[in-house]
Amino acid sequence: MPHTKDQMQRFIFDATDIRGEVVSLEEAYQTVTEQNPAPRAVQHLLGEFLAAASLLSSTLKFDGIITLQARGDGPLSLIMAECDHHKGLRGIANPKPETDFSELENATMQELLGKSVLAITIDPDKGQRYQGVVPLEEETLAACLEHYFKQSEQLDTRFWIAVNEQRVSALMLQALPQQKTNSKEQWETVTTLAETVTPQELLELEHKTLLYRLFHEHEVRLFDSLPVRFSCSCSRARCAHTLATLGPKDVAELIEEQGKVSIDCQFCKQHYSFKMSDMAEIFPDQASTLH
Ligand SMILES: [Zn+2]
Repeated sequence: MPHTKDQMQRFIFDATDIRGEVVSLEEAYQTVTEQNPAPRAVQHLLGEFLAAASLLSSTLKFDGIITLQARGDGPLSLIMAECDHHKGLRGIANPKPETDFSELENATMQELLGKSVLAITIDPDKGQRYQGVVPLEEETLAACLEHYFKQSEQLDTRFWIAVNEQRVSALMLQALPQQKTNSKEQWETVTTLAETVTPQELLELEHKTLLYRLFHEHEVRLFDSLPVRFSCSCSRARCAHTLATLGPKDVAELIEEQGKVSIDCQFCKQHYSFKMSDMAEIFPDQASTLH
């Protein structure tokens, strides 16, 4: 059966206040993992972060970027995934180089990251950045996210995520603030049904088939699917902007030392370099005084 790939789809249960979102990533996931060679346990967790970031982007009410990031003192020092409102996705994982990951094939997120917190950052194109943090005390990313929503948004939200080498798929259910009905009971019913989903079903079934298999007794309205793709927001202009924060004197010194300043994007490995002749590009406001 042809399965859905690199697509995200919203659904609602008619006559309730429950909404859902389902995502399946294949090329986007593989692009990120190819750019981040890492042990399998880390790749899988990165896949989970990517799927979760795309699901969370559906909760954005404005244009911007949502970032999911964890830093820890364990064998995996950093993992992050970002998704913007165009469903452009990128991510990185930095395992500690000296670690023997053969012992960690089936490691939980906690074992990989050690003592850590999960930070969820919402960065609107216009307006204030918002960050929510939860301790990584649960065994899975899904459970941590559920904790986050309970604590910071006061919304009942559940996640199911399944991942293998080729693919990652995830399902989210969310109880919106009650408007239509007393939905406590409906929430129980629907989440109990979703609990029966197997990783194999999540990974292999088309979204429509999956939702029918889980919720066929309920009226589910499935919206058009949205493509999700790998996309990196790095650019020469952004690198120049970052360099500019060092000030003209320090940048000039750096360039003098090695003939240029090189910046490699951590996400897509794009290489940017700036020479002395590019000073005016880095400091456009001071261009006249530099010459
Ligand atoms: Zn990049």
